[in-house]
Amino acid sequence: MIERTLCIIKPDAVAAGNTGNIIAHIQKEGFRILGMKMVALSHKAAAKFYEVHKGRPFYDGLVDFMSSAPCVPIAIEKESAIAEWRRVIGATDPAEAADGTIRKLYAKNKGENAAHGSDSVENGLREIAFFFTERELADLA
Ligand code: UDP
Ligand code: MG
Repeated sequence: MIERTLCIIKPDAVAAGNTGNIIAHIQKEGFRILGMKMVALSHKAAAKFYEVHKGRPFYDGLVDFMSSAPCVPIAIEKESAIAEWRRVIGATDPAEAADGTIRKLYAKNKGENAAHGSDSVENGLREIAFFFTERELADLA
């Protein structure tokens, strides 16, 4: 099944100058880019995006981090995109991420971990709609 997922190049990776490197992974792995922008999330917007994690011990720090500096959400599409993108980014904690994965290569720690990936088809569509209107999603051939 062709699926869509949301990548976010997180503030740590943008600040470290790894935006282009991470886009190169997206392209090398054969994802189609449907939409991409740089945004400075407000604290309120970051809290809304991650509200599924509200109450978890890392939630407040995660919201602070994601609203601390610009990030780059990218809507991408591929066969089995949800699992495929999670394979490409690697485990949440870079110490546990496989060699060659984005988090192994670029993450600072388990919180500032370079890239986001959606965890289900349903959440991927919801997360893409959080950042992009229908008109912004290019239906490229
Ligand atoms: N996170 C954290 N500490 C944790 C678990 C998660 O700081 O113990 C942060 C981290 O930035 C992670 C995000 O919260 O990417 C969302 O957590 P999730 O468990 O959904 O991990 P992911 O799906 O991003 O691998
Ligand atoms: Mg997750």
